[in-house]
Amino acid sequence: MPEIPEIRAHAERLSTDFAGAELAKFRPITFTVLKTFSPRPEDAYGRTLDSVTSHAKYLMLNFGDITFVVHLMQGGRLRPDNKQSAKPRGGQARWVFADRTALLLTEPGTERRAGVWVVTGDPVAQEPMATLGPEATSLAPDELLGLLNANNMRLHGFLRRQNITSGLGRRLANEICHRAKLSPFAMTGKLGIDEATAIHSAIHETVDQGLAYDRTREDMSKSSDRPSAVHARAGDACPICDDEVRAVEYRKYTVNYCPTCQTSGKILADNTTSKFLK
Ligand SMILES: [Zn+2]
Repeated sequence: MPEIPEIRAHAERLSTDFAGAELAKFRPITFTVLKTFSPRPEDAYGRTLDSVTSHAKYLMLNFGDITFVVHLMQGGRLRPDNKQSAKPRGGQARWVFADRTALLLTEPGTERRAGVWVVTGDPVAQEPMATLGPEATSLAPDELLGLLNANNMRLHGFLRRQNITSGLGRRLANEICHRAKLSPFAMTGKLGIDEATAIHSAIHETVDQGLAYDRTREDMSKSSDRPSAVHARAGDACPICDDEVRAVEYRKYTVNYCPTCQTSGKILADNTTSKFLK
């Protein structure tokens, strides 16, 4: 799933290409994509797109005080739509502008989890973003420490928990733990200001690195293209110490880490076997 760097770079790209365009039509292509009733999308017709911005993993198309909030979920994309075909592959919704350019929201497969919310007022204060914790990049080290200590759980899970701190996902959780030289299984209730400061630096460095990479591209990167030291690199050599990058597999994600950098050489138990060892 795209995380803060990819979403932020994509918002910049869409702003550059589409700001100033006047909305002529919004067409939900599937029944489920539009999550709100009021205001209606039509209320934004004739308005100019001021900018495309982002918050956590959400994109926002800002038309004055009306905002279209878009969540891409796992494989969704919001792209310029040059063909504007009647039944676009994976098509979810389309914005058509007065100059005949268009944006198309697509999602591959059959999951249909991407969504569009039309809201007025501060979009961050209402659904679907109302329940999000502060963006990970907005936290000072002491604020981060407060959240870590107040939500005792494994660090890797903490970093991905959107209602505590938002915008990070599986890849950055792996990368941040590695860069901060902390075990992904470290219990957050036991961490102190030194660890919180290391996590804070790691958040900024990995987000900046991802952002710099995605800004070089014409479209959002795929997960496998993104700059990663340990994420999806099990079996490779750690770029810091040359030890072998390890994996702990879960049903929906994989924790990757370097034993030498992060766990004093300890190999973390595989989830599937560790439950029998309790
Ligand atoms: Zn290492």
